[in-house]
Amino acid sequence: MQSLLDQTYPQLAETLAKEGEKSFRASQIFNWLYQKRVAGVEEMSNLSQGLQNKLSQSFTLKREKPQKAQQAKDGTIKFLTPLADGLQIETVILRHGDHNTVCLSTQVGCGMGCRFCLTAKMGLKRDLTPGEIVAQVLNAYDLLPPGEKIRNLVYMGMGEPFHNYERVIHSLMIFTDPQGFAFSWRRITVSTSGLIPEIIQFGKDQRAKANLAISLNGVTEEARQQIMPITKKHSLTKLIQACEAYPAEKRERITFEYVLLQGVTDSLRDAKALVKLLSRAKAKVNLIPFNPHSGLEFAAPTPARVKEFQEYLLNHGLPATLRSPRGQGISAACGQLAAQRKKENETEAV
Ligand code: SF4
Repeated sequence: MQSLLDQTYPQLAETLAKEGEKSFRASQIFNWLYQKRVAGVEEMSNLSQGLQNKLSQSFTLKREKPQKAQQAKDGTIKFLTPLADGLQIETVILRHGDHNTVCLSTQVGCGMGCRFCLTAKMGLKRDLTPGEIVAQVLNAYDLLPPGEKIRNLVYMGMGEPFHNYERVIHSLMIFTDPQGFAFSWRRITVSTSGLIPEIIQFGKDQRAKANLAISLNGVTEEARQQIMPITKKHSLTKLIQACEAYPAEKRERITFEYVLLQGVTDSLRDAKALVKLLSRAKAKVNLIPFNPHSGLEFAAPTPARVKEFQEYLLNHGLPATLRSPRGQGISAACGQLAAQRKKENETEAV
């Protein structure tokens, strides 16, 4: 049976219209689902019994619940959700005092093979449905203390979002719908490893909008190919051209994520090349010092090198922020999601 959480507002409105229902019913249902976050159709008390029955016959509202949630010392929560077919995904809640950011997965595993990423080691198992993407935010709300809000969403968990393009667009439609969660698109970021046709399509897509982030991590074709095999198919040159042509709004910049790997991507020569590479794009850089993990061959850059690298970019007019390490002790940092059960010492249950 189809999940009600898979339905975008236009899809639901169309389904209801075919049943002879008034259009405002779709607004009411979205409100129940995403504002009041009810667990069952029977709780939607302003719908007639007849409509409740019809919904229950056509859709399920069943959502897989997190089975294992862990909290790091900095408050970051990582939770694992077993899906209906037995596969598992991980989601991370980044806590920032008065507001929270949820890092969403879009696939089980990932087929992109980035060498600095643990998810890549799983390979691609399957795409998530829009409902499975949306349910991660509902589950995150269930884990947060009452009254705490989720303000930002980042599509940076397991998977390459643009490899699951249509379903990701549908999830964005649900998140930004004014009747649903009503997130501003400016508070949502979709991060891609660089699928050029989808970047172009996303720039034109009238159905949904979000900030765009590119996982860059290399400043020459050869350097990027070595750590991101996708570069063989989608060259760095063409990727940067697509970004330069991207129809960003006033004040909107594309975020280029750049993982600093000791001795691989962290030299001053790399910083210099990065400034040159992005000179014509509306760009800002987010530097990510590598989070070492036993399953991966790279080492973290020294703090001095990180500082030097960032200063070079800033001194040459390229906005550059530093991602502070989050979720240490629970492997919740960027590139560490692998949906594997493992021994966790420095954690406490949520
Ligand atoms: S970094 Fe992102 S795109 Fe690359 S393998 Fe990991 S999940 Fe996939």
